[in-house]
Amino acid sequence: MLMNTLIKNVVKHDLCLGCGTCMAICPKNAISMELDECQGVFLPKVDSNACNNCDLCWVICPGAVADYDTLNRILWGRVPDNHRIGHYLAGYKAYAINDELRHNCSSGGMVTALLSYLFENNHIDGALVTGMSPEIPWQSKSFIARSIDEVINAAGSKHCLFPTNIALREILDKEGRYAVVGLPCHIHAIRKAQLKSPKLKKRIKLSFGLLCASGRSVNGLKTLMRRLDISLDSVLSLKYRGNGWPGKLEVITSDGEKVLVDYKSYYPLMCLHDPHRCSLCHDKSSELADLSFGDLWLPEERKNAGSGKSICIVRNEKAALLFNAAARDGVISKSPLNEKDLLRAIQPDNKKRMLSARLAFCRATRYKGGGIPKIMATLDDYTFSDLLNALKYYGVQSLCKRRLALNLYLRCKLKYRRIPIERSFVSSAGEKI
Ligand SMILES: Cc1cc2nc3c(=O)[nH]c(=O)nc-3n(C[C@H](O)[C@H](O)[C@H](O)COP(=O)(O)OP(=O)(O)OC[C@H]3O[C@@H](n4cnc5c(N)ncnc54)[C@H](O)[C@@H]3O)c2cc1C
Ligand code: SF4
Ligand code: SF4
Repeated sequence: MLMNTLIKNVVKHDLCLGCGTCMAICPKNAISMELDECQGVFLPKVDSNACNNCDLCWVICPGAVADYDTLNRILWGRVPDNHRIGHYLAGYKAYAINDELRHNCSSGGMVTALLSYLFENNHIDGALVTGMSPEIPWQSKSFIARSIDEVINAAGSKHCLFPTNIALREILDKEGRYAVVGLPCHIHAIRKAQLKSPKLKKRIKLSFGLLCASGRSVNGLKTLMRRLDISLDSVLSLKYRGNGWPGKLEVITSDGEKVLVDYKSYYPLMCLHDPHRCSLCHDKSSELADLSFGDLWLPEERKNAGSGKSICIVRNEKAALLFNAAARDGVISKSPLNEKDLLRAIQPDNKKRMLSARLAFCRATRYKGGGIPKIMATLDDYTFSDLLNALKYYGVQSLCKRRLALNLYLRCKLKYRRIPIERSFVSSAGEKI
């Protein structure tokens, strides 16, 4: 089968993660990533005239085959002892010592603090990060940061997905030492691409993976904005996290209005239009990254909400060296987490067990045509209640595609009526009036 047909099949069967790696790696520039307005996700478009069927895009694509056992053996020489965390050397709770930075980041500010430390000590020439687009202020945009200022500007989680790995193109084009930050699917694709591209293997010195339960689509963002009565066209700036922990959504509009909403209040609204492939993703903790970072959702830590901490999983010696040096130089504070607490913090059940149930559900009901990825990794067995959960999950996702049903569903949810919104007016410089 022609290679461009294989990639088209990944899209046709809803297996594309929208990572953008195929676009970056294509030597003929035959692939572009375009926003599919119906699904609210970015998908590849292949120009069959430009494509020379070299097969690179298919070989590096993480959508149809999640070959984690093979990649684990290549990276760490073995499959993980604990398949729920992935291979690792040590787990920590940690945070950036710089209070202002920590306050403006997603959890403990660890990613931004460590990237800044790498720049400061001349260990890297660039870092693949995801900030907000200067052209379309509500949309995120990935790029290669070349300075500490650019890294700080890109801090914070962007909950509406963007094809992050298209920025790999610059790493392929320009010699240098790079760090990359991505979601588990981005890191998976980068690992596959490194096996085929000596340039990526040599130039990417460190990979930082974020924990991820699910990405959100543009349709999820549109539902949230409708609820807040904000038109996307009027958005001047948008931040999903920051302002303490777990943080607030902050939107500034062209009318000078500033809208703040707590993370926990707005986030459920964005979940009603999850990308289908996210529902079939098994990697919660960025198992293939050198270092993984997430929110420290331990119940005893939630009581201290206000100052964020991150869960950090150090997976190899290179990452351990960086982590220890940054702590020694007073950039971060860290304390060890035992395996039990690590598991409590990561909450891997929603992927390792729920995925088994969702795969069984999609296979049995041929939901969305029944296309499922080939997962070559250990998953937990599901229970009957997990199957019921899968039925409920896909039921709600299908219903919410219809505007009337979505509005009814939202109205039935207490959260919809009581969502606390702080509104104020700001000057053009962003100060309160
Ligand atoms: C879509 C998404 C889902 C997540 N789900 C979970 C979860 O279920 N559980 C959990 O514990 N943590 C989750 N996280 C991770 C968490 O939100 C924080 O990113 C993490 O704790 C690191 O915090 P920090 O303060 O160290 O990061 P910061 O210092 O604020 O830096 C964040 C870095 O992430 C990069 N980034 C932001 N958004 C994206 C994106 N969409 N794609 C690629 N790179 C990006 C930025 O470039 C920045 O460098 C998720 C993050 C995202 C983006
Ligand atoms: S490489 Fe990424 S964007 Fe391209 S088809 Fe595969 S999953 Fe989709
Ligand atoms: S759930 Fe999986 S596929 Fe979706 S954004 Fe997160 S890592 Fe990527």
